[in-house]
Amino acid sequence: MINNEDVIRVSKEYGFDMIGFAKAEILNREFDHYTAWLKNGYQSGMKYMEKNQSKRKDVNEIFSRAKSVISLGLNYYTPHKYSGNKSNGKISRYAWGKDYHLVIWDKLFQLIQKFKEIDNKFEGISYVDTGPIMDKAWSVRAGIGWQGKHANIINKEYGSWFFIANIITNYEFEYSKQIEDFCGTCTACIDACPTRAIIEPYMIDSNKCISYHTIENKEEIPIELKGQFQNWIFGCDLCQDVCPWNIKFSQSTSINDFCDAEDKKEFSLKKVMELTEEEFASLFANSPIKRTKLKGLKRNAAFLIESNH
Ligand code: SF4
Ligand code: SF4
Repeated sequence: MINNEDVIRVSKEYGFDMIGFAKAEILNREFDHYTAWLKNGYQSGMKYMEKNQSKRKDVNEIFSRAKSVISLGLNYYTPHKYSGNKSNGKISRYAWGKDYHLVIWDKLFQLIQKFKEIDNKFEGISYVDTGPIMDKAWSVRAGIGWQGKHANIINKEYGSWFFIANIITNYEFEYSKQIEDFCGTCTACIDACPTRAIIEPYMIDSNKCISYHTIENKEEIPIELKGQFQNWIFGCDLCQDVCPWNIKFSQSTSINDFCDAEDKKEFSLKKVMELTEEEFASLFANSPIKRTKLKGLKRNAAFLIESNH
């Protein structure tokens, strides 16, 4: 038999900083928020966000023996700072190190093997950011943190610089207590967003979000956003940078794959425009930045160069 203590102990051995347990119930409230977001067209070009709605609402549609969701958080914060050089494009903090999918998939695979060694009846299906699962909702339900007005999850000990992974399992656990929303009257993230993409608390319009446009958007960046990107070439962290929970509580990661990251926090826009496919492939072989492909990164660099003139 595997219990909460076993899961917490083994997960910590693999470097997970936050561990919580939620009952595998239907996500009615969270699903309503998600469908309202879709109805407004805030998913923009992310058509995959419209798919698998019944699975998002009910994890039993993914795994019929689901009893619980184990939610895990992995801190990726490092204290490196941007140079402030206006001829460089800034990379979002989460993408400075090795691709987190590669790091976390490997850990989850080993973690589930360990759980099976403790109890061979343990079954688990894991997700990191991909797949039809409402990862943030499970993180909240499992008591990892609350959803901030910028829509990211905030933990009282770490702030919001962490990756979320979830394991749907056939085992029952003692379930974690949900954390209340500690945003209070703060509106720092809403006020800091240069494109006014946080339409209302907890609701982001991707059509306006720098992070969406520099990573997910496959088309041209809308001309009306010119001059507003504050030199972000891949992602945008402004709403998290100003959050008092990050300013006060961020702590350095213990994961080496995220520590050795200083050389990927910004790039010369001119150099990006000159990169060849071979150079791009070699520079970003294990990096989340390869998601934009060279074409996307050059589009972003060109947009910033035009914006700065
Ligand atoms: S990521 Fe940037 S553009 Fe998007 S909501 Fe946050 S501050 Fe605004
Ligand atoms: S900046 Fe303020 S309102 Fe925004 S997520 Fe942080 S605490 Fe909440």
